[in-house]
Amino acid sequence: DFSIRGQRALVTGAARGIGHDLALALALAGADVLAGVRRESDGDELAAATAGGRDAGTITPFVLDVTDVSATRAAIDAEVAARGAVQILVNNAGLGFNHDAVDVGEDDWDAMMDVNLKGLFFVTQAVARHMLAAEYGRVVNLSSQAGLVGIRRHAVYSASKGGVNLLTKVLALEWANRGVTVNAVAPTYIYTPGTAERLDQPEIAADILARIPAERFGTTTDVAAAMLYFASPSAGLVTGTILPVDGGWTA
Ligand code: NAD
Repeated sequence: DFSIRGQRALVTGAARGIGHDLALALALAGADVLAGVRRESDGDELAAATAGGRDAGTITPFVLDVTDVSATRAAIDAEVAARGAVQILVNNAGLGFNHDAVDVGEDDWDAMMDVNLKGLFFVTQAVARHMLAAEYGRVVNLSSQAGLVGIRRHAVYSASKGGVNLLTKVLALEWANRGVTVNAVAPTYIYTPGTAERLDQPEIAADILARIPAERFGTTTDVAAAMLYFASPSAGLVTGTILPVDGGWTA
């Protein structure tokens, strides 16, 4: 059973980039999607997006700054109380800037860890409490190839995504016999607002492309395919997995 029709999903950081397209993919597959946005106005475009098709689910902007742990918990508890359980959580919100390790400031470290690792953990905890009560849930984390192998100038980012990978495994173990799976997708470079500044520089783009055996960048569709698999009812025995979607970079 690969159908998620009628299920409810939450995607964090869905205003743009990969998260935006994952929210659309879930809605096209029939799920009703809470599209996490940091500010109300960020949701305007999403609210206007009609996923299309008679069987498509809805997309509703959902204000959620993942670094605000208590507000996150309150918002999720209130949403579940008002409209019922969320079956699918996609932890997409993330920061991706990079520096030479010697130039990393304490603020850089804190900002990235706050969103990529701490934020992801506490959103998951807040949603999983309800999933565990319902004895069903699918958690999909956005990791990165940079969480599997070292990449120069990615010290903090790689550490955060390596942390995501181990969190994925620990949570998978804790919840494996309670109907809740936890998996991660680890993509290679994808052109988004978050990576445009670097990928718009032809030398940098060419350097990166030369390292991808598939000889192309990733797309949000590549990520959506992996995410939809993990999110599906049939993937119930698949947990604690980090799936590279990287054209062979880490092979
Ligand atoms: P992006 O910068 O284009 O979008 C990130 C989204 O996260 C934005 O909508 C932003 O508002 C949101 N966000 C940031 N801080 C937040 C917070 N505190 N609370 C809630 N939302 C917040 O990034 P992207 O390229 O679409 O990346 C999405 C995810 O995929 C990230 O976790 C990133 O690390 C991962 N990833 C991206 C690539 C890539 O090449 N683009 C590769 C591998 C992994």
